[in-house]
Amino acid sequence: MPKILITDSIHDDAVELLKQIGTVEVATGLTVEELKEKIKDADALVIRSGTKATKEIIDVADNLKVIARAGVGVDNVDLTAATEKGIIVVNSPDASSISVAELALGLMLSSARNIPQATASLKRGEWDRKSFKGMELYGKTLGIIGLGRIGQQIAKRAEAFGMTVVAYDPYIPEEVAKNMGIELMEVNDLCKVSDFITLHVPLTPKTKHMIGKEQISLMKPNTVIVNCARGGLIDEEALYDAINNKKIGGAGLDVFEQEPPKDNPLLTLDKVIGTPHQGASTVEAQKSAGTVVAEQVVKILSGKPADNIVNLPRIPTDKMNKLNPYMALAEKMGSMIIQLLDKSVEKVELTYGGELASEDTEMVKRSFLMGLLSPILLAGVNLVNAPTLAKNRNIKIVEGTLSECEYGSGIKIKAEGKEESISLVGSLVEGAPVLKEINSYKIDIKPEGIVCVIKHMDIPGIIGKASTLLGDYGVNIAGMQVGRKEPGGESVMVLNLDNTIADEVINKLKNIDDIIDAKIIKL
Ligand code: NAD
Repeated sequence: MPKILITDSIHDDAVELLKQIGTVEVATGLTVEELKEKIKDADALVIRSGTKATKEIIDVADNLKVIARAGVGVDNVDLTAATEKGIIVVNSPDASSISVAELALGLMLSSARNIPQATASLKRGEWDRKSFKGMELYGKTLGIIGLGRIGQQIAKRAEAFGMTVVAYDPYIPEEVAKNMGIELMEVNDLCKVSDFITLHVPLTPKTKHMIGKEQISLMKPNTVIVNCARGGLIDEEALYDAINNKKIGGAGLDVFEQEPPKDNPLLTLDKVIGTPHQGASTVEAQKSAGTVVAEQVVKILSGKPADNIVNLPRIPTDKMNKLNPYMALAEKMGSMIIQLLDKSVEKVELTYGGELASEDTEMVKRSFLMGLLSPILLAGVNLVNAPTLAKNRNIKIVEGTLSECEYGSGIKIKAEGKEESISLVGSLVEGAPVLKEINSYKIDIKPEGIVCVIKHMDIPGIIGKASTLLGDYGVNIAGMQVGRKEPGGESVMVLNLDNTIADEVINKLKNIDDIIDAKIIKL
């Protein structure tokens, strides 16, 4: 049973899910030393924002396969340390999108109709309708900065309010915005035309203070700014001056440069309303964040592909389904190459042909490297750390594509060692991996189980001698292929065997006249 350590509070449903596959320990509020002790033999660590999965912690976690962060931000996980150790990091990026989008709209409506101020006045026993006259969202322009997961949820909902939506996001394809009826524009233009502006970008050196004095000076006098993304995106001093001097309408803030805010002058302004960073604080978001990561942990610990892997490129499920058989093929080819070469690999050329040529082949390359390195490194090579491990071993990787492929679609791999090089061509037949060539000798074998590769001269009787010897040792041949370039020349015999053979038998095979070399590989 795998050991699953949960060190921040996560939803009960998630804990129950994890209990079905492992021994679960929930231990919150641990000191660094306590965490280091508990993580030593854990297979999975499940956290929220409270636990810091630093290098110091990861270094002692010798059994750890996955760190699951229930929520979006992984700034509390040392991704480099995790990646180097082959630990998969997963999160639940979509779990809180709707909750945050709804809060942003809530802040917009609350600002537009002065709901918090009116509530406070009502509770003071007043009945003051004049002071809280508001404005409608209908017919207004909403400027969304960052049209990602949350930005898009807001856009959908704003449409129902009858708002015109414009957006600034230089990294989103024009088509995505167009299909949603959104006009993309530069940030300064957005500031000029918008009645409401809402921010949904990550905080990076590029986005820090992206709404500053200059941008605010371009806004209309009634413009309301909403920030449910990260404190630091807006220059708070410039925002305070603008609202205090009635240059803009107000602000609805869920996030602040310093949290919790300490003597923040913005909070003294009547036209500023806010919430204590509670965008994701809903029953639904927290349940979803917990169960989504628990499902990923279950998949990873059962050796199945997971979604939302932070330290792997994100590939949509339909693309992944298409790539999966090629990944299996590439892994087998990698394993075959290292076992046949049996020496260090210095350079690898991967050429993708046919339909694969137009796909993102990053995962295929990673699978190949995993296959190449797994037989030579003790344990722990996976899709996450394979490129790093290959780099550490100075393996040079060159990738290319061929639009035409003799076998419809497939992969050609040439691996160079110090003295020898090997080339393989693999393809898919009815969705299953098939090896089509070894060193330009045409063959047709399934790269699976125990395979014996014999290099020999093409002379009469040689196949009989090899198979008789194997038969004498009780080895059953399940399949055989011979590839040759010309009659009488060097050839290659590839056998699928039902059981493995001892070194003694391999040596006897090698001693048969006209057999140049024989190798046994396990796939
Ligand atoms: P996302 O990654 O789906 O979208 C971010 C978008 O910002 C992307 O489309 C990206 O292209 C765009 N972007 C990046 N840099 C940009 C730049 N320099 N200028 C303009 N656009 C840029 O992220 P998301 O899930 O929509 O989250 C958005 C923000 O909300 C994040 O900062 C996240 O931390 C925050 N968030 C806050 C809470 C909360 O409790 N208030 C909860 C969840 C997420």
